[in-house]
Amino acid sequence: MSGKSKLTVDVAIIGGGIIGTATARELSKYQLKVVVIEKEAEVGWGTTKANSGIVHAGFHEEPGTLKAKYCFPGNQMFPKLCEELDVCFEQNGILMVARNEEEWETVQKYYERGKERGVPLELLSGEEARALEPELSEDIVGALHAPEGGSVMPFELAAALMENAIYNGVELLTNSPVIGARVENGKKIVETPFNIVEADVVINAAGLFTDEIARMFGDDYFTIKPRKGEEYLFDLDTKNMVKRTIFPVPSKVSKGILVIPTAEGNLMMGPTGDNIDQKDDLATTRDGFQRILEGARSLVPGINPRKIIAQFAGVRAASDRGDFIVEHSPNVPGLIHLAGMESPGLTAAPAIAVDAVRLVEEAGMKLVPKEDFQPRRENIVRFRSLSREEQDRLVKENPAYGRIICRCEQVTEGEIIDAIRRGARTLDGIKFRARAGAGRCQGGFCQPIVMAIIARELNIPLEQVTKRGPGSEQVLFKAKELLAGGITQ
Ligand SMILES: Cc1cc2nc3c(=O)[nH]c(=O)nc-3n(C[C@H](O)[C@H](O)[C@H](O)COP(=O)(O)OP(=O)(O)OC[C@H]3O[C@@H](n4cnc5c(N)ncnc54)[C@H](O)[C@@H]3O)c2cc1C
Repeated sequence: MSGKSKLTVDVAIIGGGIIGTATARELSKYQLKVVVIEKEAEVGWGTTKANSGIVHAGFHEEPGTLKAKYCFPGNQMFPKLCEELDVCFEQNGILMVARNEEEWETVQKYYERGKERGVPLELLSGEEARALEPELSEDIVGALHAPEGGSVMPFELAAALMENAIYNGVELLTNSPVIGARVENGKKIVETPFNIVEADVVINAAGLFTDEIARMFGDDYFTIKPRKGEEYLFDLDTKNMVKRTIFPVPSKVSKGILVIPTAEGNLMMGPTGDNIDQKDDLATTRDGFQRILEGARSLVPGINPRKIIAQFAGVRAASDRGDFIVEHSPNVPGLIHLAGMESPGLTAAPAIAVDAVRLVEEAGMKLVPKEDFQPRRENIVRFRSLSREEQDRLVKENPAYGRIICRCEQVTEGEIIDAIRRGARTLDGIKFRARAGAGRCQGGFCQPIVMAIIARELNIPLEQVTKRGPGSEQVLFKAKELLAGGITQ
């Protein structure tokens, strides 16, 4: 125990993914002392950073499931939430397409299912679907159109939720893996290598590891089974090939291979849905790529794999119930599990967060609203989206906005400095917040300069600048020279 700092809070949230950060922000509306405990160097680096980024419309989910309960309400919360937090969100719509008469019958069943929930939907003929999306396959005989489906930058949203929660008083512990947990005199004790956190209520939002956190408290009544999804991202010049996310008719286990216009503008195809043994298996595979390409081309034949600039895999935290778990522990009063968050967990997160607050109240916490809660995140600069006049004005005010550091994505030094001031501590943190390094060259040109800016702004030696936290240090001598000579480009 010795040497560890002690922290006493009302609510401790384990895990800073989309579920933990959305819950933290929701709890920050009340007079509570809340801490988020995250094992990585920044929030949002679990499943939240590696998914399709689709804000599902809410017609897919089986009736009677928690997925159905939270998906459509979550979808409906996105426009306001993303406006308040100034996060990239496109309500670009969804098309589920049928390639034959049998699939058309299934599409109509989803139409009925969605309509019963109040999801805005329309049925289109093949011609009407192709009039909306001219690149769609000639084989498509009909489609279900959900205009309120959308696309979001999931990492940006998690970072923004956390930033806003911190602004409203929540504390964040990073690089803090929970290594032990127990109950002492009714209090929940959570231990990391550096801290002992004593909490009245603990929210277990540790994604793939929620079953392991539960077991630390003696709860072993659910298991998380990892299921991997590979995704392939295209160059920005594929923008506008399709505007809406294109879904096939789903199989029993997955929503299928999709063609996805991301909120950033790149096209993406994926994901696979493969049961795996290791929760940390993030490898992409030739076989996965072939299956995805075949699936994507059956929807949009013109897809050109030569335009792929990046590939990644994410792992779904599927529960052995086949559904979300949003409930009090049956054994430990004051322990709440938010687990089994496979798709549509990102979409459902805002609605789950509201329900998590209800569970916190049920666990005995008095909820007194804060009168000075600030819902907005202000002053986010996206230089390349500004008009010429706005750019000129900004550069006059702060010349750092006049220096382009990432040429592919046109990201300025000013935006990188902003990202650091908003909480980025690593190259990946900059990439996901400001997009420096997210373009065609994947950081090949700008990485040393971004490293030098991080070192200068955080006043740390270059040797301590990491890609994604301890163990990923990458000193480049070019960056050292740049730092020594002042940063210019
Ligand atoms: C390929 C793929 C595509 C998907 N596409 C979509 C989509 O388009 N739309 C949609 O709605 N959903 C989608 N999903 C699902 C969505 O990504 C998840 O539901 C969501 O990200 C789960 O968030 P989470 O916060 O539960 O988990 P995570 O993001 O994994 O967060 C858990 C956090 O807990 C931390 N943690 C773990 N163990 C510990 C510990 N011991 N101590 C401290 N911290 C710990 C982790 O580091 C992590 O940050 C997709 C998932 C995958 C894999």
